[in-house]
This record gives sequence, C-alpha cells and structure tokens, in this order.
Amino acid sequence: MTFPADSTVSPGGFVLCGYILDAPEWGLLRHFEHGAVAIRDGRIFAAGPESEVRAMLTDWPDSAWHRAPQGQRWLVMPGLIDVHAHVPQYPVVGRVESELLPWLKRHIFPAEQAFTGQRPGLREELDAFFAEIAAQGTTTAMLYGAVWQDSTDLAFAAAERSGLRVLMGKVMMDVDSYGFGAQWPAVRTREASLAETRELITTWHGRDAGRLEYVVSPRFAVTCSREMMAAAGALADETGCAIQTHLSENHAGIEYVRTLFPEAASYTDVYRRSGLLGPRSVLGHCVHLRPAELDLLAATRSTVAHCPTSNFFLNSGLCPLNRLRGYGLRVGLGSDVAGGPELNLWQVMRSAIETQKARRFHDPSVPELTPAQTLFLATAGGADVTGHAAITGTLSPGMEADLTVFDLNAVLPLQGRFTSPDPAPEAIAALMIYRGGPHALRGAWVRGRKVAGTCMMASYSIGRISP
Ligand SMILES: [Zn+2]
Repeated sequence: MTFPADSTVSPGGFVLCGYILDAPEWGLLRHFEHGAVAIRDGRIFAAGPESEVRAMLTDWPDSAWHRAPQGQRWLVMPGLIDVHAHVPQYPVVGRVESELLPWLKRHIFPAEQAFTGQRPGLREELDAFFAEIAAQGTTTAMLYGAVWQDSTDLAFAAAERSGLRVLMGKVMMDVDSYGFGAQWPAVRTREASLAETRELITTWHGRDAGRLEYVVSPRFAVTCSREMMAAAGALADETGCAIQTHLSENHAGIEYVRTLFPEAASYTDVYRRSGLLGPRSVLGHCVHLRPAELDLLAATRSTVAHCPTSNFFLNSGLCPLNRLRGYGLRVGLGSDVAGGPELNLWQVMRSAIETQKARRFHDPSVPELTPAQTLFLATAGGADVTGHAAITGTLSPGMEADLTVFDLNAVLPLQGRFTSPDPAPEAIAALMIYRGGPHALRGAWVRGRKVAGTCMMASYSIGRISP
C-alpha cells in the first residue's frame, strides 16, 4: 500500500525515513517498516515505502533526506491531539482531593484567580507551557484559560509564537465565580465575560490561516447561569467558534446540577436548552450519561473529550467509551491537566485502555480497547473532534504536515542495545502506549515547521498554508 501523491514533484521539501505509522480509522493501522514521509510547503507530499517515495522524488537532493543517526530507531507518526486541558491549572497538578467540587474550590479556583495578565513572569511561563506541550509530541491542543481576558490574550500570543495548532478560550462563569459572590454581582460578570470573549474572538479566531481558533468556553452548568449559557451558545453560533464545556463528570456534580436546574430532564438537557450542543461542541468527561442523554448527544452530533487519567485522579468514575462510540459519538482524548496529572498523551492512552479493562472486571461483555483504536483516539479521532479531520491526524498526502518522530530505542528496555522491537504495527503502538513520552521525542512539526525536538534540521519548509 502506498499513499498516493497528488501534485508534481519539485525540490524544496524534506523527507523523514523510518518506521511509518498512522491510525486513519477506528482500529486500523497503516505502516511501512522501511518507510518515508516527504513534506513540502507545509503539507505531506508523499508517504510509503522508502524505495517508492525515492523513485517519486528523483530530483530531491540527498540533503533533504533524514534518517535516524547511529543508536536511534525512528518512528514517524502524526502529531498527537489533546482535546481537553486547562492552561492555568498546570502549576497545581497532583493536588490530591476527594473529588471534583472540593478540588475546584480548594486548589483550582485559587490558582485560576491568580492567573492574571499581571502575574510576574507570565509571558515566560506561557512560552514554557506551550514548549512542554510540544515536547510531548502533541501538535494540536484544545485548551481552557482562566476567567481573565488579559492572561488569555497572553496565552494566545504564546500559542502563536509556539507554532502549535491551538484552540482555546477563557472560561466563562457568572455563578460563584472564584468565590467572588456578592462582591462581584453576576450580571457584571456575565456582561463583562461576554464582551471580553467577543474581543478575544475578534483578535484571535482564525489567526495564521486558521492555526489558532477561539473556543467559547462556559465552564460547566454549576458555575454558569441560564442566561450566561444561552448567550455563550448564541455567540458561538454567530461567530462560528467551537464550544467546550464539562458534562456528567461525577455523581456529586450531576446531583448538584439537578437541584440548580429542576426544569431540565438531565445535565445534558441543560445544555440543549442553552443551545450549547452541536457538531462543534466538545463535552469533557461524559462519564455517567443515561441513554436519553446519549441520544441527545448523538442527535446533535456533539463530540466527547474522554479524560481517563483525570477520571481516575478525581475519583469521577469509569467512562464507558464503547457505549459512547456505540451511539456513534466522535471521541478524542484529553489530558485534562490538572484533573489529569500530566500532559503526556501516551499515559492518557494507557489509562483509556485500563479504564476499559477495569470495567471488564465487573462486566466481561465490555470490549477491550486495542492499541490501534487508542492511537486513533489520540490522532485522527482528536482531529475529528476539533473539526480538523480534513487537515491533520494522519499521514495522508495533502494533509498539513503535523507530525512527530519518536526514537523507539528510547522506549525499549536498556535503550534497545540488546533488543529489537516487534515490527508488527499493533506491537509498535503498544510499546509506545506503555512506555512512550517526551523522553523519546526527537522532533515535532506543525505545517512542516519544527516546534520541538532535537533531531537534525532547525526549521525546514516553513508552512505557507492558504486558508
Ligand atoms: Zn476540564
């Protein structure tokens, strides 16, 4: 199998040689053990067996070809896609608490309240944060900021500098907003939040030919009034922005939402009434949904951010991934930092597999999640959730060149000095899922522009992507 090239050959790009792997469909892996991926003008130009790619690129100079140096074994893959994390929460990862609501009050709201544009050193901190995302091999991230416009503005500026593909929005809250309560009346919060969101959309949505996108981000039903959620839904409709929020994360939250919105049939119905469901809505968690709620998500083509490390960390529950997919829902994976303790999506993939295993202990009819299915969730599945299925998530020619190189020797026992990997694609995916991470990353590119890694070229083929 060769991925077909779709345009004429000419010099000016670069080629990465190694074990080529992607997961373009649920459960399907494509691979070439001795493969090559050619990148030109920010897009994937060709991918396939190295001999065939070489035959197509006879006029590309030898200097354009790059392969693992002595002591490394390269795996070339699509960039990873993290569909749910919180920028201001990264400094407070690992804060153990009984469950979501006390954790938010005790650890997260104080951290977010302090995450203002005036925070000393914030620009450097944000640059380091995006560098840390890139160092995981993550090339697309969908993120929440704090409630503040100024720090969200600075976060977008850092995202722009990072070269990463970033979808982001400031959280909107007008109920018990960081505990301000009476000092800051809700209507002031709501009107200010809507006005600030609108300004951020004007400044950042679609920046750099769509590399940066604004996401309208009402936090969740517990901290948003009906009026706030309805206005957020209308604003997303008007501007074409995606929406992100949290849904059905744990039992205490579900019960609390029931008391706040007695008129709604369910937590999901609260969002339906507010116009927050739709094909560009990304709902974080979705752990305890009832059949009628799953029907509602399916009917509106809403999507899900599955956050298994966070669901374990905050004792939220075991998300029934196979049920969600059984309703035809599109699902991606989120680190949910700081509900999840780290940005490493390989750990999130492992946790997704272990969630299904844990459910199987109680119900043997629950299917296992395979490495191939899991890799799909973290690449092409995430691209579908973020609305980018046509431009990123696989190595197919014509896609924008968001890709990574990992060193398989760095994940093999004893740095691969005494062992070789099993070359079967499922085995390679499993090796990465159980032992992968930033220690193995050698390079990451977005639109063919280097965003992380130590391997060879500094910055080849700066992407020029027309909108
Ligand atoms: Zn979250």
